[in-house]
Amino acid sequence: MSKSILELLFTAGFTSLIVGCSSVDNSARSRPNIIFIMSDDHAVPAVSAYGGFLAEIFKTPNLDRLADEGMRFNNAFCTNSICTPSRASILTGKYSHMNGVYTLEEKISDDQTTFPKLLRQAGYYTGMIGKWHLHTEPKGFDYWKVMVGQGRYHDPIYCEMGKGWSRDPEGGVGASYSGHVTDINTDFALDFLENRPKNKPFSLLLHYKAPHDEWEYNEKYEDFLADIDVPEPSTLYDDYGTRGYGIKLQTQKIGENHTFYENETGHLSGKARKAAQYQSYIKRYLRCVASIDENIGRVLRYLDDNDLTDNTIVVYTSDQGFYLGEHGMYDKRFMYEESLRIPLLIRYPKAVQSGIVNNDIVTNIDFASTFLDYANVGIPEDIQGESLRDLVEGNTPEDWRQSMYYRYWMHGAHFNIPGHYGIRTKDYKLIYFYSKGLGYSYDEYYPTVHWSYEGNIIRDGEPYWEMYDLKNDPNELNNIYDNPKFLSIRERLISELFELKDYYGDSDEAFPELFKLTRQYSGRN
Ligand code: CA
Repeated sequence: MSKSILELLFTAGFTSLIVGCSSVDNSARSRPNIIFIMSDDHAVPAVSAYGGFLAEIFKTPNLDRLADEGMRFNNAFCTNSICTPSRASILTGKYSHMNGVYTLEEKISDDQTTFPKLLRQAGYYTGMIGKWHLHTEPKGFDYWKVMVGQGRYHDPIYCEMGKGWSRDPEGGVGASYSGHVTDINTDFALDFLENRPKNKPFSLLLHYKAPHDEWEYNEKYEDFLADIDVPEPSTLYDDYGTRGYGIKLQTQKIGENHTFYENETGHLSGKARKAAQYQSYIKRYLRCVASIDENIGRVLRYLDDNDLTDNTIVVYTSDQGFYLGEHGMYDKRFMYEESLRIPLLIRYPKAVQSGIVNNDIVTNIDFASTFLDYANVGIPEDIQGESLRDLVEGNTPEDWRQSMYYRYWMHGAHFNIPGHYGIRTKDYKLIYFYSKGLGYSYDEYYPTVHWSYEGNIIRDGEPYWEMYDLKNDPNELNNIYDNPKFLSIRERLISELFELKDYYGDSDEAFPELFKLTRQYSGRN
């Protein structure tokens, strides 16, 4: 055999070896895996890395590990503070008025482009585990195992791909699993990771039910926080003095509307009753979060043990914020900080420095673009969010957004909260409570569906504005809309708000009265 043939054989073998490596590299190594972990109603102060009013007595070591090893976003916001619409916005990268999921009731249409569908087309192995809460069968996944509707805390029912689907969680489709939902959800997520094809990058949506109401914690946390007084937020006894009718008439008031655990606090009245009911509520809530944190520890350990940590983007967030007693409330919906802000931690050791804090304004429509960007998949032009990749890697573009747009549609449908939209900049917030149903209120919308909610008394009412100086009044106690000192800032914010409405295509054209206002304020009569 001549030397040249040997050389030829060697070269051919070597080349095929390189090709072999390269194919593994492209599919499984160079593109990051993605785990998008989302809890339901997890407020920022209940993540100890954020150092809020609970941080002294409540620790989330595993979530804090993500912050320590990745990036913590201080100004991350949802675009519509309610469960189902938030999930649709995350999947599509679009506002509610673009994806058609405005309230808890609309179905997401099957033909919509979502980031899991695009990742799957690009060769990712895609999965969805946990609380789905959209009303059609999950699409775009190689595997799913989900709770439809709210799901149950104990012995939850899951529907599994290939074994039937029903919108009705108790409709006889699906199987019940014994135990607490947060543990079971994690079991299923680890099964997904264990059983996935190892030659493909993966994308897993891991969505927890907790800490949504009614906060049925795992019994093993029964004694957790039992013997201490949990600190109260400074606005627990807010009297709503300077604000409009929305916050005054809302029915999310601790100790007044939701009577938490009467057997513990029913004998009390006034401030003492509110204080006691706050304790009952917050302890249950935090016990649910403690379970979440424990289970995220299990996921992170799995990644460590299987050499996946470095090449996996782990995102932790919530579908919206939540009131942990601030302004005397529980629940969400308003554009005030507590329900607008979401916790957001992103760890990706390959690209993200550890322990970095980011203060840029980001929203839940940005996730889709971010994942597609990292997966090297083209971002469709009609996606409204922006990729966070540059931010995550410490290079925020100079022209990054300086404000965000928010809209809550369910006028009076739940807890008496009026429909509103607004703008938040780093320093100010301006909210327009347009106070009209527009087809999404209790009166106009809910009688047509299978449930209704008691305590709805507001109808179409007088619109009003609120404005806050977030630097000097971070708790939003002092509405400065009519304060002459802020007149020029107010005018600037109004212009910017309507520029954002234009930019995102939320012109209210279908609602003549509001449309007129939009045109008027944007200077286009
Ligand atoms: Ca939620």
